[in-house]
Amino acid sequence: MWTIHQTVALFNLPFMDLLYQAQQIHRQHFDPNKMQISMLLSIKTGACPEDCQYCPQSARYQTHLESEKLLAAEQIIAAAKQAKHSGATRFCMGAAWRNPNNRDMPYLQYIVTEVKKLGLETCMTLGMLTAEQATQLAQAGLDYYNHNLDTSPEFYPHIITTRTYQDRLNTLEYVRQAGIKICSGGILGLGESEQDRAGLLVQLANLPKPPESVPINMLVKVLGTPLENNQDIDPFDFIKTIAVARIMMPTSYIRLSAGRSKMNEQTQALCFMAGANSIFYGCKLLTTKNADQDNDKQLLKKLGITPETYKTAQGDNEQSAQLIDQLCHADTDLFYNAAP
Ligand code: SF4
Repeated sequence: MWTIHQTVALFNLPFMDLLYQAQQIHRQHFDPNKMQISMLLSIKTGACPEDCQYCPQSARYQTHLESEKLLAAEQIIAAAKQAKHSGATRFCMGAAWRNPNNRDMPYLQYIVTEVKKLGLETCMTLGMLTAEQATQLAQAGLDYYNHNLDTSPEFYPHIITTRTYQDRLNTLEYVRQAGIKICSGGILGLGESEQDRAGLLVQLANLPKPPESVPINMLVKVLGTPLENNQDIDPFDFIKTIAVARIMMPTSYIRLSAGRSKMNEQTQALCFMAGANSIFYGCKLLTTKNADQDNDKQLLKKLGITPETYKTAQGDNEQSAQLIDQLCHADTDLFYNAAP
């Protein structure tokens, strides 16, 4: 079990020592030159009743975000086909709900089944789940469920009041019990302290089983949200958090998620060195801007990093270039950048 004390000690290491340790652990469990790439579709956008202060999808804030109703199954399946065609191996679907309504469950199950038939891994983020709903999704074959803890238990009430930390832990427990893999992480730049960052990582690493996927987001300040004027997080603090997460959760995929478009190439490269090995690729991350695709293409090429699971008869660099070209030229209007 990790303690706050041990975790803060990692944060206090000299930067280079921390990075070196994280990179060593990373290399024991992963190929350091491979990147997992997922695509995300927002299947229901905006008008969310929750009050998460960072989120443009909350109905409580004036963010000029256009709400969209739950997409038709055909639209979702068509988008999944396109993602598959573009070389993605995992298709993530997000809905801005407090929780799914029971009457929507058969529909959601149908979507999971159809997307899986295409040979894609499936991931959903739908808000809080009951144990029964988690079981229903598992029965449909859902591979991953995203539900973030966001920050430390202590800082959490400053950011969200409409659901408790315990509510979130309960959902994660139901998901785990149902046999679905967990994707859960947090957001930096909410105004939290380093101790809070340590607190978040302790919560994640000490779950009965750490999440298979840990998204670490950098706050995207959206005009109209209560956090629109927050102070930017120092990129070195962000990189350090990735490194500490890698050390504490050696076998989890650490995902560089929202906020990547604000990072320069060097910061992203140091994040990859610190152990981040998963990114979302697409035009928008749920509703906020993702890193420009051409920039991504250039950066991965410069670093000699290739997508993890895209298999062709061609060499790695060709594979990488081909996947990225396909993604760049896909009609990505339907794809949103992943905020979960
Ligand atoms: S983060 Fe999720 S639950 Fe919170 S307001 Fe946004 S869409 Fe709703």
